[in-house]
Amino acid sequence: MQFFNINNPEQKVSFREAAVTGQAPGRGLYFPERIPVLERPFIERLPQLSREEIGMRVMQPYTGDDIPQAVLADIIRHTVSFDFPLIPVHRRLFALELFHGPTLAFKDVGARFMSRCLGYFSKDNNRRTTVLVATSGDTGGAVANGFAGVEGVEVIILYPAGKVSVVQELQLTTCGGNITALKVNGSFDDCQQLVKQAFADADLQRNYVLTSANSINVARWLPQQLYYFFALQQWVQERPPVIAVPSGNFGNLAAGLLAAASGLPVQHFIAACNANDAVVRYLLTGVYSEQTAVPTYSNAMDVGVPSNFIRIQQLFNNDYGALKRQMSGCSVSDGETLETIARIWKKYHYLAEPHGAVGIHALEQYLLEHVDGKGIFLATAHPVKFPAVIEGQLHIPVPQPGSVSDLYTLTQRCIEMPAGFAALKEWMMSREK
Ligand SMILES: *Cc1c(COP(=O)(O)O)cnc(C)c1O
Repeated sequence: MQFFNINNPEQKVSFREAAVTGQAPGRGLYFPERIPVLERPFIERLPQLSREEIGMRVMQPYTGDDIPQAVLADIIRHTVSFDFPLIPVHRRLFALELFHGPTLAFKDVGARFMSRCLGYFSKDNNRRTTVLVATSGDTGGAVANGFAGVEGVEVIILYPAGKVSVVQELQLTTCGGNITALKVNGSFDDCQQLVKQAFADADLQRNYVLTSANSINVARWLPQQLYYFFALQQWVQERPPVIAVPSGNFGNLAAGLLAAASGLPVQHFIAACNANDAVVRYLLTGVYSEQTAVPTYSNAMDVGVPSNFIRIQQLFNNDYGALKRQMSGCSVSDGETLETIARIWKKYHYLAEPHGAVGIHALEQYLLEHVDGKGIFLATAHPVKFPAVIEGQLHIPVPQPGSVSDLYTLTQRCIEMPAGFAALKEWMMSREK
């Protein structure tokens, strides 16, 4: 399968090249040149198939000849080696829990798939590939864990000092080995700026094979389709579900829409956003305008310019009417988020964290108007990652999974760095590789 640059459809590359380069020229995004069709018998047999079998059938058309069958099977087995349970909250509302992976957020799937793909592609290189990534929290942990121990690839993560949660910092700094954490004395934007400067620097380009691990990479984006197949695998209701997706950069939702375009039966999608709701307003008005991100409780969705939205428009050939028939949007305030967590806990004894709660609220609004509907919200992170809101504000105790207690026993290592590029460059040029 070839992938074309949405900004310049003449430019086509293989899966391998799209995964290795990440971004297309001119800051474009890669998009599959055709959408695979999954035949009905496959869809009907989902409940009988294993996650690995589903993963192979869904991903193989995209990776094609670039990854041999046996290697892909290994990558997929590793990618989906934890549970994705569908939990009933009440008769009409279900949680698809995507936080049972090693860093307790849904980004594990994309990071694990991508890391193994890059590991495979760098096998014939005699030079090591260096992944450079800036994080505000969840991405860095998933990428660090996903790439830990992958041969031929090292990861350098830049994170803002004092601005990630305790659990997130532990996840960033305890991997060791081929993972190096740089604690930058600045903001997330400073970290991102440093990464951009590094990619543009000729000396670093000569000394390193640099690549990025951000969410626009096809190797991170495409495997997210699997969540939706796993949801349907466990769905025993008569009619297809409505699915609410807590969204920031819209990679997850774009993957769901791609799965539906391939034939997965989904009644309707809901883009669940916090106050950063450019896409929701587009769905209401037909006018798309970018905004400056504002901070909210669901901070992994504080995105003013959602990078994957262009993929959604591409999926619908920029047909606003067609898009509106398949998805709607809802923006949820911090007040509504808190109210939802408290109420769902009290009434159903289900503990949601802020991102999932945005999804619940959006789904509830939709179900009020569609009284026969039943739906799923994607629970994108474990509550333990957001204790400030749940314990601090609502005084609900959050159970700590074993994997988190273990983190406290590991040695933390990070290198402190001022926010200027000169220091980063000097460190990168002088270290042994
Ligand atoms: C990244 C993230 C999101 C947003 O996902 P997108 O694919 O960027 O829309 C939602 N919830 C959590 C917990 C996240 O880490």
